[in-house]
Amino acid sequence: MAENFSSWHYSAPVIDLHAHSNMSDGLDSPTELVQNAALAGVTTLAITDHDTTLGWDEAIIAGRQNQVRVIPGIEVSTRQLIGENRSISVHILAYLPDPKNSALVEELDKTRRSRIDRAKKMVALLAEDYPITWEMVLAQIPEGSTVGRPALADTLVSMGVVPTRSDAFTSILHSHSRYYVSDYSVDTTDAIALIRGAGGVSVIAHPLIDFPAGASMTDLPAEFFKILIGAGLNGIEIEHRSVPKQAKQWLKNLAVKHNLITTGSSDYHGIDGKDNRLGENRTEPAMLQRILDQASGFEVPL
Ligand code: AMP
Ligand code: ZN
Ligand code: FE
Ligand code: FE
Repeated sequence: MAENFSSWHYSAPVIDLHAHSNMSDGLDSPTELVQNAALAGVTTLAITDHDTTLGWDEAIIAGRQNQVRVIPGIEVSTRQLIGENRSISVHILAYLPDPKNSALVEELDKTRRSRIDRAKKMVALLAEDYPITWEMVLAQIPEGSTVGRPALADTLVSMGVVPTRSDAFTSILHSHSRYYVSDYSVDTTDAIALIRGAGGVSVIAHPLIDFPAGASMTDLPAEFFKILIGAGLNGIEIEHRSVPKQAKQWLKNLAVKHNLITTGSSDYHGIDGKDNRLGENRTEPAMLQRILDQASGFEVPL
């Protein structure tokens, strides 16, 4: 029998605002993602596939069927210039943008096309040492989904080259590996403006992973946050397993100072996709309300 959430057993909302389906690099279909969220006790889930809105419709329907409130979103791949010839990959979560906004659609299309070119280049490099083909990669993912290194990782696992997806990331698919190729991404500040122009709310995903030292040189340094805030950044994803404890305090202070939204999320990619588990980090209901109040691009489905 279907659960009735308005009945006698009231449970506190569990709000998880960052999760991937197989429309990008997660392993669950949008329906399975929402079903798994329900099983994990998540009451509100944002589907935030990389650079695509392809999973939204299916997730919304599954949300109705499983009593999960689905918040449609996108994790937008962006790049911030931090010096001459040096840029950093920055992921910006966009909540409730208009999925038909032409400027946003164009930019996402461009990013996805570039990801395909980049993945093909990586396959060509890998093919010098392993019997991998582009067709084998395509066989790993549904048509139209956003291609990333995880699809290459899954192919290498299926070939027996590495035991797991994570092992591929720490070895041959690492950004310092000789098979690594970087891809095109929109400037971070331009992305923030595009999201706002499409009526969406922008939240920087998993920031300051290297705080305070900048050890791996792959993360946006703290001093660049004021540029993003100046460009209209609406919020910061603080509760995420990759954000170090000291960084959280620094980010909380920044959020208070600039009246920014703060969120908590899992960044789930499927049980075997990554260790992140649905609902492991949560967003306060008041913060979700601020996102809903500031968004005007898409009506939240009931
Ligand atoms: P790419 O964007 O193509 O460079 O690939 C990086 C993406 O792979 C990020 O979004 C990660 O979240 C994702 N990813 C999925 N599974 C893993 C994993 N096991 N280890 C590291 N990254 C992963
Ligand atoms: Zn991902
Ligand atoms: Fe990310
Ligand atoms: Fe993510």
